[in-house]
Amino acid sequence: MAGSTIVSMGLIVAGAFALLWFLELKRPLRTRSTEPKLRRAGRNLVIAGIGGIVVQLAERPIALHFAGVVEQRRWGLLNVVQLPRPVAIVLGILLLDYTLYLWHVLTHRVPFLWRFHLVHHVDLDLDASTALRFHFGELAFSVPYRAAQILLFGIDVTTFTAWQGLLMLSILFHHSNVRLDPRIDRMLAWAIVTPRLHGIHHDAEFTHTNSNWSSGLTMWDRLHGTLRTGIPQDQVVIGVPAYRDRRELTAARCLELPFQAQRPDWTPVDSGISLE
Ligand SMILES: [Zn+2]
Repeated sequence: MAGSTIVSMGLIVAGAFALLWFLELKRPLRTRSTEPKLRRAGRNLVIAGIGGIVVQLAERPIALHFAGVVEQRRWGLLNVVQLPRPVAIVLGILLLDYTLYLWHVLTHRVPFLWRFHLVHHVDLDLDASTALRFHFGELAFSVPYRAAQILLFGIDVTTFTAWQGLLMLSILFHHSNVRLDPRIDRMLAWAIVTPRLHGIHHDAEFTHTNSNWSSGLTMWDRLHGTLRTGIPQDQVVIGVPAYRDRRELTAARCLELPFQAQRPDWTPVDSGISLE
């Protein structure tokens, strides 16, 4: 990808992050927070920064290499028949979005992957900074999956770049703690994941976490019967029951978490900190 594309993507992400930060202060969706926003964001950005190195040095170059090969040799599902270019791009984005839904389910269901995805879920509050907080291991293990998506579907460079940009904006938005007008929220939720829906996925209640896996369009959750609405946000407790002691959730401890003995995640550990 050209350097200018990376710079413009960075600017769009920074702009969206700043706008969401402002809205989170103005119109918070969940009004309880466990610690000052700046301190949490700082920790999340440290974890994100290390993950960002994996994205820049491994995911992006490998994905773009395969996207270039696919484009040259016309490999993959979308190249089986000659499609009008805009149709091929839209179909490619839909296929990537659906298979990201499947990957998200795998990161919860496969114990080895969950060790890493857990780091994203143990954040005790949820906002746009959580959207960037992924363990570098989870990002590294997603690289072969991404390569397989590109090769199987025949995703070209333009489609991949467009999807990555849209995905970034989508995850920043639905992790954010921004309260929308309920009517607008309902309308948006018909098509895309909203902060209210994704808050349910980050709830410390196991059955709630096992819902709302989509990262872009909500239709994948609808298709699989995993869409869950109607959980009031004041009943949502962000986090994972076995990991609620902040002293164990520093950036360094979070980075070590996948390499340690795993607790039964959904059984609360008495750390003196209440689930409320
Ligand atoms: Zn998850």
